[in-house]
Amino acid sequence: MDEWELVSPGHSSTTLTVASDTSSDATYIRASTLIPGIGKPLTDQAVISEHGKIVYVGSPSHVPSQYSNLSTISVPVLMPGLWECHSHFVGASPLKPINTENMSMGNSAAAGARAVRALRDTLYAGYTSCIDLGGYAPEFQTVMDEGVILGPNLYGAGAALSQTAGHGDVFEIPLGSVWQKLTLNSPGTDVGMVPFVIVDGVEEVRKAVRVNLRRGAKVIKAFTSGGATSLSDNPLHQQFTDAELAAIVDEATRFELVCAAHAIGKRGIMAAIRAGFKVIEHGSYLDDEAIEAMKKNDVTLVATMTPIESILNNRDAYPPAMYQKVLRFAHIHKEAYSKAIKAGVRCATGSDLFGGSGTVLGAGLNGKEVMYAVKAGMTPLQAIEAATANGPMTLGPQAPKSGQVKEGYDADFIALDENPLENIELLQHPQKIKSIWKGGKLVKAPGLDYWDVLATK
Ligand SMILES: [Zn+2]
Repeated sequence: MDEWELVSPGHSSTTLTVASDTSSDATYIRASTLIPGIGKPLTDQAVISEHGKIVYVGSPSHVPSQYSNLSTISVPVLMPGLWECHSHFVGASPLKPINTENMSMGNSAAAGARAVRALRDTLYAGYTSCIDLGGYAPEFQTVMDEGVILGPNLYGAGAALSQTAGHGDVFEIPLGSVWQKLTLNSPGTDVGMVPFVIVDGVEEVRKAVRVNLRRGAKVIKAFTSGGATSLSDNPLHQQFTDAELAAIVDEATRFELVCAAHAIGKRGIMAAIRAGFKVIEHGSYLDDEAIEAMKKNDVTLVATMTPIESILNNRDAYPPAMYQKVLRFAHIHKEAYSKAIKAGVRCATGSDLFGGSGTVLGAGLNGKEVMYAVKAGMTPLQAIEAATANGPMTLGPQAPKSGQVKEGYDADFIALDENPLENIELLQHPQKIKSIWKGGKLVKAPGLDYWDVLATK
């Protein structure tokens, strides 16, 4: 047995005894309070994991005999690792404006290097899984599988699909330059290895889905309305024709991939639902009809309050035109989110952080979204469910068993000293997430260094 005495200010009670028995990598965590992901919290629970999966959850007095001699790690509060349902690991520069050009037109090697920090910051904020809706997630997952860097489990879309003059287009620079970088046959680049791809027509959208599939996409993302970061389009307009959207869904469905739509205006929302998209991102102009359609078609809402609040609260950090654009629909967005929660639309939380590390929209600020969900009308327990158990539900057939502390599920946990059900804002402070296990392996704890974690297999 190796014993790590990990003592830090404010967490002096933590003594971690890590089993290094060669026949088993089992870990026994004893939680004074367990928040399971779905349902009410439980007191004094034993949670045992082995080979990356949870093998026992229940009373400490009924622990299966093969685990009863394990040393225990006692924590005040244990809950599932959080799910970020709208990330963009694009490696944006912190020194350039927070906009589409910074997200998609930079050098991919530099973007990869910057993303090392973003992946670490996201994981250390308690997010053990991310659905990445336009970025380099498939490539970054490969590097994490190699054991080279640390980060959350990534379920990536690869390149998000945009039409020309759509939300993924970069209006500030000549179209020729955009096409040179962001089309399916961009010369001089790894073809298709981009955060966004500009495609037009049924044949091209089908091909884009196939290119993403080849990259290892776990979900397909398309922009079905204009946006806020794209300065020259109109969020109220539908982007892509119904025929193009149907082709995207048809192609994705054959490969058991769910489609998620960036949709702000109602036309884009309804077009996505009509075509068979299963997740609406943003959903700013949801009204009664759209809410009804979402419920009828089992569509999940990821309302992404974080960028809206960030733009409103940090006006100077954003391009002025972006601020003006967001100002026009921010209040409508908040009302729509509350209405959807009240109507019982299934919600998952996603923070859409796409800025460079250390900026007002940088990785690691993810937990604010849970607080915004409560502000919009969820109870703290519902908000935690939206940020844990509901995450994998947005992946359809690709959903892993994750987001719940339940036997057979991924052994992804976070431990806190205080109960987030009593103070939801705890989740937005990475330093309050004291310990994190990913796949049963301790990846964050007081005194535990990033490089030391990488050094242990
Ligand atoms: Zn986004």
